[in-house]
Parts: sequence; C-alpha cells; structure tokens
Amino acid sequence: MSKAIEILEKNKIKPSFIRIKILEYLMNTKTHPTAHEIYEQLKKEIPTLSKTSVYLNLNLFLKKKIIVDLKTKEEQRFDFIQYEHINFYCRICKKVFDLPIVNYIKENDIKVDEFMVEKINIYLEGVCKDCGKP
Ligand SMILES: [Zn+2]
Repeated sequence: MSKAIEILEKNKIKPSFIRIKILEYLMNTKTHPTAHEIYEQLKKEIPTLSKTSVYLNLNLFLKKKIIVDLKTKEEQRFDFIQYEHINFYCRICKKVFDLPIVNYIKENDIKVDEFMVEKINIYLEGVCKDCGKP
C-alpha cells in the first residue's frame, strides 16, 4: 500500500484516486506549490480533474492537518507535513493539542536489548501555553 493511502486512511479520508494523486504530489514536491500549480501538474495526468476538486481536497487535508499552508501576501502555498503529530494533554484545561514533534526516533530504526521497535506511541501531559501564562 502506498504511503499516501496509508496517511489518508489513518485520517479517515476515503483514498480516492484524485486524493492519492494530490497527496503524492505534495509528498514528492519540495517547492511548496500553490493550488493552481498542483492543478496544472496533475491535469496532465488526469484530464478530467477540476480546479474545485483540487481546492476542496487541499482544504480537507488542511483541516485534517496532513498538510500545512504557507500564506504569503499574494498567495497560499501548500506543503506535506514531514513529521508526525503527537498528542499533548493539558492537565489544567483538559484540552488535547497536536504538537508537531520532529521524528527524531524513526520506527524500525532502533533496537532495545535486541527488541526491534516497530511502533512508537508518545503521549505527553503537562501544562499548555495558555494555562502556563502567569
Ligand atoms: Zn491548558
């Protein structure tokens, strides 16, 4: 299974052909493309692609925090998030935050006493930045 399908399913998004293509494009592109650039590139491969569908899916990916957008004065650019989010639980307001933590420990990368680590679940608990203000 492709990494894009895996990410979509993990985020409970139906992995349609167009969604897989958009996500794979963002995963393989380092130029932070605009929606228009994504549309122009993918249209070569998918002639039936509509601009609306590109916009709708980008917004869906944004909402699910699979991608990020970088807004400049003139335009909105998109990028695939290269790191995992981990949950941070604030013991004061009881809210759960997504913290972007760089993947410094890679799965399948470390051995602990001959035990192969295949999955890492990190759960953080503490005081969020709002509750931590004096
Ligand atoms: Zn809090």
